Amino acid sequence: PMPVLAVVGRPNVGKSTLVNRILGRREAVVEDTPGVTRDRVFYEAEWAGTDFWLVDTGGWEDRVQGIAYRVAEQAEIAVELADAVLFVVDANVGITETDEQLLKVLRRSRRPIVLAANKVDDERGELEAAALWNLGLGEPHPVSALHGRGSGDLLDAVLAVL
Ligand code: GDP
Ligand code: MG
Repeated sequence: PMPVLAVVGRPNVGKSTLVNRILGRREAVVEDTPGVTRDRVFYEAEWAGTDFWLVDTGGWEDRVQGIAYRVAEQAEIAVELADAVLFVVDANVGITETDEQLLKVLRRSRRPIVLAANKVDDERGELEAAALWNLGLGEPHPVSALHGRGSGDLLDAVLAVL
């Protein structure tokens, strides 16, 4: 069976944009308004000769229970189906409380985690990305899902754990 990579992160960090970048086509829905992706969408992806399922997650905007709770809950479902997790954070924003809560879920899952520091559109963002070493997830991989910067290195890191 093809290995499964779940792309998780709080709304608006660029998960769907990154999924499109990896697929090399526009399929995942990108919106400036967070929360438009359905809970889990599966795509067939390929990198360097390896086929895998790429799972875009989202759509868990919830005004009643609070966003952090819903993100964590949905991440739990997604990672259970996954062999590895691509944890996407916004390098320009840094780590928020929702990110922290999400990370607890990811750590509990015991799945390998690759950290993508997204929205590093140019060299200046590298410093913010480097600050994410603090999370204890190993090397933060700076990437610009929008422009493609760093996506090859990120995918190489993913394949190493998939
Ligand atoms: P999701 O909610 O995590 O799936 O995030 P989306 O992929 O829908 O993106 C949310 C917003 O961030 C959109 O306006 C994207 O164009 C923008 N975005 C995504 N990746 C990047 C990036 O690498 N650089 C910049 N500057 N913006 C990005
Ligand atoms: Mg999305």
